[in-house]
Amino acid sequence: MAQSVEPKVVIVGSGISGIAAAHRLVKAGFQNVRILEATARSGGRIKTGKLGNTMIEIGAAFIHGPSKENPVFCLARDYNILDAKALTPENQAVHVDEYPPLVPNWFTSSGQKLNPECVQPALELFHELIDNTPQGKNHKKQSWPSVGDFIRSKVQRRTAKRWKGKDKNTRQLLLGVINTMLKEECCASATASMYKLDLVGFSMYEHIKGVDCTFPSGFEGLIGNLMSELPTDMVTYNRPVHCVHWNNGENDVNPVTVVCDDGEKIAADHVIVTVSLGYLKKHHSTLFSPPLPSQKLRSINKLGFGTCDKIHVEFESPWWDADCEIIYLVWNDEENISDQVSDLSKDWTRKISSFSVLKPSESGSHVLCGWISGHEAEFMEKLPEEEIRRSLTELIHTFTGDTTITPKRIMCTQWFHDPWTLGSYSHLAVGCSAHDIKSMMEPLPKRRNQTQPLQVLFAGEATHSCYYSTVHGALLTGWREADRLILHHSSSGSFP
Ligand SMILES: Cc1cc2nc3c(=O)[nH]c(=O)nc-3n(C[C@H](O)[C@H](O)[C@H](O)COP(=O)(O)OP(=O)(O)OC[C@H]3O[C@@H](n4cnc5c(N)ncnc54)[C@H](O)[C@@H]3O)c2cc1C
Repeated sequence: MAQSVEPKVVIVGSGISGIAAAHRLVKAGFQNVRILEATARSGGRIKTGKLGNTMIEIGAAFIHGPSKENPVFCLARDYNILDAKALTPENQAVHVDEYPPLVPNWFTSSGQKLNPECVQPALELFHELIDNTPQGKNHKKQSWPSVGDFIRSKVQRRTAKRWKGKDKNTRQLLLGVINTMLKEECCASATASMYKLDLVGFSMYEHIKGVDCTFPSGFEGLIGNLMSELPTDMVTYNRPVHCVHWNNGENDVNPVTVVCDDGEKIAADHVIVTVSLGYLKKHHSTLFSPPLPSQKLRSINKLGFGTCDKIHVEFESPWWDADCEIIYLVWNDEENISDQVSDLSKDWTRKISSFSVLKPSESGSHVLCGWISGHEAEFMEKLPEEEIRRSLTELIHTFTGDTTITPKRIMCTQWFHDPWTLGSYSHLAVGCSAHDIKSMMEPLPKRRNQTQPLQVLFAGEATHSCYYSTVHGALLTGWREADRLILHHSSSGSFP
C-alpha cells in the first residue's frame, strides 16, 4: 500500500459507486475516508432478498456483458462468486446481437398460447428497427425526436407493404407483439414510454461482450466481498446527509462542511456525492449550499430517471412449459402503437410485458419475475398487496384461460417510493445529449485556478457516459472520482 496522506474525504452514499470510490482511495493510501449512508445497509440499488425459500433480486440482477472489459465481472470472478458457465470463454465472447434467444412462451389476451413462429414477423421487424436506430452523425433532421416516434413511423411504413396480405386479426396480433416489445424496452431503459427516450441518445449506451449472467448466491455477495476489504468503521449507517456546504471560504481550514440530518457537522476537503439522479432532481436545492451551477442543474432536470419494478410471484406448480425461460403477454385488442395505458386504475397490469422464469429453487418453489415500468409501476407501488394479487390473478386467468391458477406469494419492488432512490435508473430523455452527462460529472468549483479545487465530486450510474443505468457504470464512476483525487494529490506533492 502507498504511503498515507491526510486529505479528508466524505463519500455520500454506500451504493456500489461510493464503495468503489472508498476502495480505490484506501488502496492508494488515503486514511481519512468516511462514507455516510442514509439507510441501515450498504449496496443501495443492489439488494438481494427472499420470497419464501427463493432468493430474489430486488435491485440489479444481471452483470450486463460479463467479460474482461466489465469490472464487475472481473471482481466477481476474482471473488469466485460466479457459476462455471459465466466464466467460460464462449460465454464471454458473445456479442449482444448474437445472444442465444431465451426460450419463450407467448400468451395472448384471448387466452391462447401461441406458436412462437406466429410472432416472428413482428419480432424481426422490431429488432431490425431497435438495433439500428439512427446515430448522431446520420440523424440531422429532427423528424423523429424519440425512439417511440421512430419505431411508430417505420412500423407503419414497413408493415403497409410487408403485412399487406395478412388478415386483420393477424395484423392486430403482430401490432400487439410490437407493443409488448416496446413495453419490454421501457423496462430496460426505466422510462415511462419510448416516446420519452431521445433517439440519438439511445445509441450512446454501449454494450459489452458476454451473455448476461446472474450471481448464484445473490448480487449482494459482491457488496459483502468489497465491504470486507474496507475498515469496518468506514461507513456510518442511518446517517442521511442534509446539506453539503461548499466554498466555505479560504479562511476555513476545510472548504466543505457536510451537515447530516441529525445535526452532525463534518469538515472535509472533498465530498464525493453518489446519490441517485432521482434524489438529485428532488433534493438538489437543499442538498447544496451554495446551489449547484445552472448548467449542472439544467442537466439534472433534463436527464431522465424513471421506474422499473419487479413483481415476484410464487406458484404451487408451473403453468408454463418445462423449458420456458420467459413468458410474454400480448394484448390483441390494441389498435395503436403505444406503450402506456390511459386509465391507470383500470388497466395498470397492461404494462406488464413479460415474466422471467427464475430457476426452480432446491425447495421446489416456482417463481416468476414480472416486469413493469413507468407510471403504471409507480401506481402499482401504492396499491395494497391484496389488490395487486387480485389484479395479477385476473391477468393470468385472462392470458391462460385457466381460472384455477392462484399465486401463492407476491413481492413487488417499490423503487419509486424509496425515499433514498426515488426511481430505478437513468436514461437519456428527449433533448438530452452527451453534454448533459458530462456536466453531471463535472466537479465543483468549476474554475480551474481555484486554490481549493475538487471540493464536490459526482459519481453514480447517471454520471457514466456510455454505461449509465448499470452496476459496472456506477462502479467505474466511483473509481473515476477517486482517481481524480489521487491524481490531484500526487501532482500537488501531498502524495507519493
Ligand atoms: C429494479 C432494478 C433493476 C436493475 N437491474 C440491473 C441489472 O440487472 N444490471 C445492472 O448492471 N444494473 C441494474 N440496475 C441498476 C443498478 O442497480 C444501479 O445502476 C447501481 O446499483 C447504482 O449504484 P450507485 O452507487 O450509482 O447508486 P445507489 O446504489 O443508489 O447508491 C446511492 C446510495 O446513496 C444513499 N443515499 C441517498 N441519499 C442519501 C443522503 N442524503 N445521505 C446519505 N446517503 C444517501 C442511498 O441510500 C444509496 O445507498 C437495476 C436497478 C434497479 C432499481
